[in-house]
Formats: sequence, C-alpha cells, structure tokens
Amino acid sequence: MNRSQGFLAGCKLKELEDILVVQGLPRYRARQIFTWVHRHCALEISDMINLPRTVRESLESQWIIHGLCEVERQVSQDGTEKFLLRLVDNQSVETVYIPESDRAAVCVSSQVGCALGCSFCATACSGLIRNLRAGEIVGQVLWINRFHPVSNVVFMGMGEPLANLSEVLRAVEILNSPAGMGIGMRRITLSTCGLVPEIRRLADLGLQVGLAVSLHAADDEKRSQLMPINRRYPLASLVEVCSHYVAATGRRITFEYALIAGFNDSEGDAEALGQLLRGFNCYVNVIPVNPAVSGFPRPVDAAVSLFVEKLFERGLNAAVRRERGSDIDAACGQLRHRSLEKS
Ligand code: SF4
Repeated sequence: MNRSQGFLAGCKLKELEDILVVQGLPRYRARQIFTWVHRHCALEISDMINLPRTVRESLESQWIIHGLCEVERQVSQDGTEKFLLRLVDNQSVETVYIPESDRAAVCVSSQVGCALGCSFCATACSGLIRNLRAGEIVGQVLWINRFHPVSNVVFMGMGEPLANLSEVLRAVEILNSPAGMGIGMRRITLSTCGLVPEIRRLADLGLQVGLAVSLHAADDEKRSQLMPINRRYPLASLVEVCSHYVAATGRRITFEYALIAGFNDSEGDAEALGQLLRGFNCYVNVIPVNPAVSGFPRPVDAAVSLFVEKLFERGLNAAVRRERGSDIDAACGQLRHRSLEKS
C-alpha cells in the first residue's frame, strides 16, 4: 500500500459512485465493485473479472480492498474460531467467529492495543498503538464471511470502539448497507468500558445498534481498581447516560459483569448492583473471570449461580455468559500477546 491508496472496504457506495463519475467512469461500475468487495469478499481487485482490464489497473493504483492477511487461526471444539490477522503496516488484530444455534457472530477489533488499561485485559498490556480504519474493521467481517455466512457483528475484540467512534460508525454504516452485507443495525453491538460523552453522542444519533457496557462492579472504589476509566466517568454519570441511551433509542442495554471470587461476588455486591440498576431496562451478563488472562480468581460454579439468583431476587434480568473457545486463546488480546512473545 502506498500513501495515496485507500481501503475499498471502507468506502460507502455513494462515495465510490461519486469518485468514479469524476474519473469519467459510469456510475454502475461502483455497484459492481461494491458487490465484489462485500458480497463476493474478493481479496484482490484483479479478481473483479466483469470490469475491463483498464478499469482494474486504474483501481489498483488507487485502492486496496482491506489489506488483511491471516497469520494464525485456532479452531475450538465448540466451533469458535479465532483469527490473528495482519494489517498493511504489519500490526495485527484478533477476530473471532462465534457460531450459535440461531446466529453466527463475528467479534471484531477496533484498535491495535488499547489505552484504557483495564486490569483484567490482555489487550491493555501494549497500550494504544493505533486506531483501525473503517476498511480494516469491515475487512475483518469480510474475512470471516469467506468461510462462514455472518449474521451478527459485535465490537468486543481488541480496543475500545467508542474511542475510535467515527471509523466505527463508518464501518457500521457500510456493514448495514443493503447493497453489501446488509447486516441489520439490531444485529450489531458496540461494547464500551463507559466513555460517557461518546455514549451520549451515540444515543443522540438514534441508531438501533445494541450497546453493551462493561460494569464489573457496582461501587466506584472497586470499579476504579479494575477500570481506571471509572475515575474519569464514575458510576453515577455512566448510569445517567445509559438511561439517556435507553430513552433515546428504545433499546435495552446489556451490562457485562466479570465475576471475581472474593472481590465482587458477595451478597452485598449483588445488593449494590440491584440498587444501581433498579428499574433499568437492561440485561446483566455475568461472566466468570478467566484466571489465565486476568490473574484474578474465578468463582466456583455454585457461587456464580448463587450470584445470578441474588440478582433475580432483586428484579434484574441476568444470565451467566457461556464461555466459548476455552481450549484456544479466546480471550481478547491473548492470541496476539502470545504471538508477539514468540516473535
Ligand atoms: S477491556 Fe476493552 S477497554 Fe479495557 S483495556 Fe481491554 S480492550 Fe481496552
């Protein structure tokens, strides 16, 4: 890739039409190209065989599709597949395919590394290296779609999507495009550690995307120990903006709660969570922490069930999130971290 080349996968159909018309090409060529990129998941412009050779050569001087290539792929016994994908500048990101009975989700990364420093997260180790471009985000979904039809996209891989919001929103619009993959807004979920101004911005856009918020503790002292971002945006401001999100979009929020033995799994913690989310249109995902990645102790299964029961008693809609890919490096940042250690 040279400096003047862009990612075709990050270009909206209308933008491509306008560019081609300025270059003296017919508008319909843009739709042909968009179809090759988003429906056929082409890897090279030279694959677009219904375009004249001169058009392909001209495109190649200006564009690459997404520039991703596969470094490693791990397949779990439960069907989960984890990909380590190399970017054009030799950085790498993780992308996970998660098949379920009624859907096939892809978990995408939005940044290389992350600046937010959550204490349980392998991605945090490297700090933020760079934001991904929209074409690199869409490219991850296209890469998986070559092997498995994709129905859902979750932004829960490496990075904080709301810290790269403009590229993430561009990617969402392209993924949603009926001329491309046409993934419904309600089948796309953004996961955040709680960037309050960006949640407000998202709410005010009124998109129908799902929002998942990593909570992990119901009091500021404990949450700040796990997530430094809580010092900037404490729980009161986070819950207030989440209420605004629900009111503005009509969508229920999912709160993620990583359960750590002896830290946030007591009856008192369940009570604090019940108080914090009282009357909230939400769903609580309880995730027993992965000790191999986080260094925190995982509660025994009986303690996990008991905690969920306590949440039910307090009127919260909650469930334990089933662990996927436990026999591979499935936690966010784990595969890339191990690959960097080897190199
Ligand atoms: S959990 Fe998410 S926001 Fe926190 S450090 Fe990891 S990637 Fe960043």
